[in-house]
Amino acid sequence: KKSLIIALTLMFIFGSVFTAFAEGSAESDELVIGLSLPTQREARWVSDKITMENYAEELGVELLVQVADADQAQQASQVETLLTRGIDVLILAPHDASASAALVSAAEDEGVPVISYDRLITNSADVDLYISFDNVGVGRLQGEYFVNNTPPGNIIVMSGAPTDNNAKLFKQGAMEFIQPKIDDGTYNVVAEQGVDNWLPTNALSIVENALTAANNDVVGILAPNDGTAGGAIVALEAQGLAGDVVVTGQDSEAAAAKRILAGTQSMTVFKDTRDLGKAAIDAAVEFAKGNTPETNGAVDNGVFDVPSILLVPYVVTEDNLQELLVDSGYLSEDEIQ
Ligand code: BGC
Repeated sequence: KKSLIIALTLMFIFGSVFTAFAEGSAESDELVIGLSLPTQREARWVSDKITMENYAEELGVELLVQVADADQAQQASQVETLLTRGIDVLILAPHDASASAALVSAAEDEGVPVISYDRLITNSADVDLYISFDNVGVGRLQGEYFVNNTPPGNIIVMSGAPTDNNAKLFKQGAMEFIQPKIDDGTYNVVAEQGVDNWLPTNALSIVENALTAANNDVVGILAPNDGTAGGAIVALEAQGLAGDVVVTGQDSEAAAAKRILAGTQSMTVFKDTRDLGKAAIDAAVEFAKGNTPETNGAVDNGVFDVPSILLVPYVVTEDNLQELLVDSGYLSEDEIQ
C-alpha cells in the first residue's frame, strides 16, 4: 500500500514537470505572430515596429513583420504571405479600413485571430480585438486646445486620410469643440478638407490655396497629425505667417517637438506607441494560448461593437514637452535640438 502511494506521488510529480515543460516550450518555440503595418512614413510607425520587435524577442515569440507603403494591394499580398507562413495570430494596422475586411476574412478562414491595430478595420464581423488610443479623445484634445487658443476669425479645418477610420474619429472629437464656435460666428471656415493618404504635401496645397482665397487672413489651422501640420507650416512660412497662426498636431514626432519649441506649431498629442505595441503583443500571446484578452471598451466598426483596449492620449505644449516626451524617454534631447 505504501509503495502504491509512493508510485502515485512520483507519477504526479513527473506529470506536473512534464506538463510545465510542454507549456513552456509551446510558448517560447512555437508561437508565431504576424504583423502587417501600413507605412513607415510617419515616425510613430517606426517606433511601433521597433517596440514590437524588441518586446517579441524579449518574450521569446517569433514576430514576422511586413510593411506596406501606404498601398492596399501591397498590404493584401503581404497579409497573404504571412498567412501562408502559418502565423498563429495576425496584428493588422490597415491602410484602408473597409478594404481590409477581406484580409480579416482570409485570416479567419485559416483560423487565425485578428487584432486591429491603431486603426479600426470597418465592415467586418470577424475582427477579434481593437487595440488603439481613445481616438475621439485625441480629437477632443486638439479641438479643446484650438478653441482655447485661437482668436475669432478665419480657420482651416483639415482631417486625415478618408480611408482611415481614425481620421473620422479625430475630426468628430475636435468638432465637438470647434463646431459650436462656427455656429455662433466666432470662426469662419475658409477650407474644410480631408488630406489624402495623410500626405504633408497634400496638406501644404490645401493650406496654400486657402491662404490665397482668404488673402492670408487666417487665425487657426486644425491639422490632424504632425505630418500634415508640417505641410501646413511650410505653407505659412512661405507667407511669413508661421508662428502667428494656431496649428494643431498629433504623434509627438521629433520634428513637431522642434517646431513647438520654435513656436511655429502650437501643440501635439502624445500617444505612447511603446505601450500600444506591447499591449498588442501581449494580447496576441493570449489569443495564441486560447484565452480572450481583457478589454476596457468597445468601438463600432459599422457591423458590431468591436471589443477594444483603448489607451489614453495626452496633450503636449511647450509647457509639458520636456516632461512628457523627453523625461519619459520617448524622444531624446538630441532629437529635439
Ligand atoms: C494614426 C496617426 C498617424 C496617421 C498617419 C493614424 O491612423 O493614428 O498616429 O499620424 O494614421 O499615419
